[in-house]
Amino acid sequence: MEVDDIISYAHLVHAEGATLQKGMNFEVGGSYSVFLMSLRKGAPYADAVDAATGTLIYEGHDQPRSPACPDPKTVDQPLLTPNGSWTENGKFFRAAIDYKSGLRRDPEHVKVYEKLARGIWSYKGFFELVGATIVSDGTRDVFKFSLKPVEKKPLRRFKELPTTRLIPTTVKLEVWQRDQGKCVLCGATDNLHFDHDIPHSKGGSSLTSENVRILCLRHNLHKSDKIMVLMPWVGLATTSALHITKRL
Ligand SMILES: [Zn+2]
Repeated sequence: MEVDDIISYAHLVHAEGATLQKGMNFEVGGSYSVFLMSLRKGAPYADAVDAATGTLIYEGHDQPRSPACPDPKTVDQPLLTPNGSWTENGKFFRAAIDYKSGLRRDPEHVKVYEKLARGIWSYKGFFELVGATIVSDGTRDVFKFSLKPVEKKPLRRFKELPTTRLIPTTVKLEVWQRDQGKCVLCGATDNLHFDHDIPHSKGGSSLTSENVRILCLRHNLHKSDKIMVLMPWVGLATTSALHITKRL
């Protein structure tokens, strides 16, 4: 799966080999975890991207609703379950603290999916869990997890990703509405992907909906073919430019 692919919930479950009923899924993928997030109107949690640091701030999750806890939004988010085991908040909190204190060498890797509409998700990529705090939201204590975007390389290596590469969820939601959930070139409704009209590597912005559109797999591949055809020419131009510089 590629970052910015648009997939159904069934596809997501198939890709992860688990029914992800909860938003936070510690090490559900064996060597990595999965977060589901939503910034849609009425979404239950205040997930955000910190404009200053570019890190994703993911809010912890509430106590499950029960007769003993009829209104989970009024009680502190729990670190432990009633029987004393770690909640998902607790597992991620411990992983972040262990990493910061040097108890674990590598940070926890988290795959993030964001919700676009009922049953429709977009893959946001891999993140490293680099921090966790407990803060008051005015009425109660909530967890805040800090995640840094990374690019997965072969041999389980990870490379830091420029945060400007990420298409913000708000832009994805806007484009999803504008393009009506279809490829803008052929109207296909499956195998869709958020495409940078001008690629990010060539200076195209991720931060505005004007440079982002929905393409199907076929049109996305067609576009990369065209870029590949252009490449030799770009290479040649660079070489001759070098020659000229040298001669000067
Ligand atoms: Zn198409």
